[in-house]
Amino acid sequence: MTVGRYDYAYQLHDLPELGDALMEVVHAGGEVLGPKVAQFEESFAHYNGAQYCRGVNSGTDALTLALTAAGVGPGDEVITQANTFHATVAAILHLGAKPVLVDVEADSWTISLEQVEAAIGARTAALLPVHMYGNPSPMGRLAGLAGTNGLALIEDAAQAHGAAVDGQRVGTFGVAGCFSFHPSKNLAAAGDAGAVITDDHTVAEQVDVLRNLGQRGQNHHEVVGFNTKLDSLQAVILSAKLPRLEQWNAERRRLAATYRDALVGTGGVIPSEIPSAEPVHHLFPVAVPERDVVLAALREQGVDAVVRYPTAVHLQPAFEKNDLGRVGAFPVSESIARNTVCLPLFPGMTDDAQAHVVGALHSAMRDVA
Ligand SMILES: *Cc1c(COP(=O)(O)O)cnc(C)c1O
Repeated sequence: MTVGRYDYAYQLHDLPELGDALMEVVHAGGEVLGPKVAQFEESFAHYNGAQYCRGVNSGTDALTLALTAAGVGPGDEVITQANTFHATVAAILHLGAKPVLVDVEADSWTISLEQVEAAIGARTAALLPVHMYGNPSPMGRLAGLAGTNGLALIEDAAQAHGAAVDGQRVGTFGVAGCFSFHPSKNLAAAGDAGAVITDDHTVAEQVDVLRNLGQRGQNHHEVVGFNTKLDSLQAVILSAKLPRLEQWNAERRRLAATYRDALVGTGGVIPSEIPSAEPVHHLFPVAVPERDVVLAALREQGVDAVVRYPTAVHLQPAFEKNDLGRVGAFPVSESIARNTVCLPLFPGMTDDAQAHVVGALHSAMRDVA
C-alpha cells in the first residue's frame, strides 16, 4: 500500500458546477480583481470574523503587504521565530526591515513569550508570530505585549486557516493576518494565492493600493506598488472549497488524535497545544530518534512522509549576511529541524491508509529504539 500526501480529487468531489464557473471567468476575459475575487474576499473575511480581506498572489506577498501597510519600513525590527519557513523572514527583509529571531517553546514549539519580551527594543516595530503546523501561538499574551509596547501584531497564518484561540480565529488578533492558499495548505488554490485579513479600514485600503501597482483609481499611482492580485480563477476555486474547510479541519483533528494515541510509548514526541487552542494540523510533525532512518523506513513502506524545513531558517545560506543567529543560537528550533518527520495527514485520508502509516511507524520506531 502507498500513502500519499494530498487528495485533491477528494477536495473537489461533487462540485459539478465548478467547471462552468471557471469557464465563465475565461469567457469574461479581463476579470482582474473582478466580482469573483470580491466574493471570495467577503466570504473569507466573514469566515474568520474579520472586517476586510484582500486577495493577493501568495502568502509571501500577503506578509510583505501587511507589514508595509502596518507601517513597517527600513530600519525597523520585526520579531519572529526561528522555527518558520523562509517566506516569513524574506518578507521582512524585502521591506528593508530587520528580522529579529527568537526561539520557540520546548513543549508547544510556539514562539517563546519570554524571548519575545527580552527582544523588544527601541527599534522594534512589529511582532510576527507564526502558527506553524496549524498549531496556534499564544495570541492573548502576544496581543498584550504588542499593546503595552505599541507594536504592530501581524500573524503568519499561512498554515492555520480556521485555527482558533479561545474561540477566536487566528489572523484576527492583531492588525493583520496573512494567509497562503498554496496547493499544500489547508485551503488550497490550484496554484499560488494568498490573502490579508484585517479589521482596520486603512490597512485594507493600503493593501488594496499596494497590490495594484500603487494605484488609487485608474492611472493615479499614489505609492510605489507591487503587482500581486488574487486571480479570479483561483478565487472561484477557493470560493468552492471554503464551505468545506470546517469539515476538512475536523477530519484533520480526528486523524491527529489517532496518531497521537498511536504514538504513546513509541518515543515519538509531538508539540503540545497552548490552553484553549484549536489547532488545524496543517502538518503532523513528530520528533523521533534517528530521524533519517525513520524517514527512510517509512518511505520504504510506501508512506510519503516528509521532512519539512530540515535547516532552521537562520542557518539558510540566503540569510548568511543578515546575521540572524549562529549554530546553537536557537536550540529548540534547531532540534526540531534535525529530528522531525511529518506524517501524511490530509482530508480524505482513509482509516486503512492511516493504519498503514501507524504500522510502518511502529516498526520503524522499534528499529531505532
Ligand atoms: C507557505 C507559507 C508561507 C508563504 O506562502 P506562499 O503562498 O507559498 O508564498 C509563509 N509562511 C509560512 C509559515 C508558510 O507555511
